[in-house]
Amino acid sequence: MNHILTGKQLADRKLMEELFKTAQEFENRDKKGEVLDVFKGKIVATLFFEPSTRTRLSFEAAVLKLGGQVLSTENAAGASTAIKGETIEDIARIVSGYADMIVIRHPEAGSVERAASTSQSPVINAGDGTHEHPTQALLDVYTMQKELGGLDGKTVVFIGDHRNGRTLHSMLPMLVLFKVKIILVSPEELRLPDEYKEMLTGANVPFEEVVELESVLGEADVLYVARIMKERFSSPEEYERLKDSYLTNKDTLSKMKSTAVVMAALPRVGEIDPNIDSDPRAAYFREAKNGLYVRMALLVYALQK
Ligand code: ASP
Repeated sequence: MNHILTGKQLADRKLMEELFKTAQEFENRDKKGEVLDVFKGKIVATLFFEPSTRTRLSFEAAVLKLGGQVLSTENAAGASTAIKGETIEDIARIVSGYADMIVIRHPEAGSVERAASTSQSPVINAGDGTHEHPTQALLDVYTMQKELGGLDGKTVVFIGDHRNGRTLHSMLPMLVLFKVKIILVSPEELRLPDEYKEMLTGANVPFEEVVELESVLGEADVLYVARIMKERFSSPEEYERLKDSYLTNKDTLSKMKSTAVVMAALPRVGEIDPNIDSDPRAAYFREAKNGLYVRMALLVYALQK
């Protein structure tokens, strides 16, 4: 069955090109007002055990635009039998009897894979704790390509919480397929876990880890800004100390190339100044919109196999 659980699974240039082509086609057809029927008669369940705005709603909009129907839980943690202690394995087994596909977000790393082990329908990982968020990663790579016209030869600077940033964890296996340079800017405490650094080294991708942003700004083709992930901190004091580590504002942009883009999975909670929203380099709202079309492509891919 074609579950989508990790970024590694999508890290194939041919597959990515196909998905990107499909996403672009869906965008073109959507803009012409075409109504699609690829998912006619299909039901997709969205089980979200953690909050979400963009991921859940763009998945649901994607299903509706494909002509399918949605069974939705925006608060599966409080409003499903999980609260009585039912396991994710049992929930997935049952829900897969009602739905042709299940999109799951859950706070525990590995939980979506466990759900997939009992599900009778394809399962899509919409974020499992600090582990992975493959569909966000794919739409981010799509956005980078679309904005820059290609990724080979580019430098991608990631700022923020690399310890807990699940999107970055899913994106690295995709980015290593390109001739990119990666610069990781974070406080020492929030550095990328070793396993991902080993992946970069193994793939011969040049990368640097730095604490201070200013000196690398001029090199960036993409400045990817991630939030410090409050909900992942066991120590509120540590969060308070680190939460305002970086701010991307007009001054930041003034030190960047005119051709660079600023991206973010969002939400932003203080790390991106809204005063830069009108700068053409601010690509995060376009990125969020791309999510709709990339998720349409991924839904079709998961259903087809
Ligand atoms: N929306 C992304 C995620 O769910 C990033 C974030 O929450 O900051 O991982």
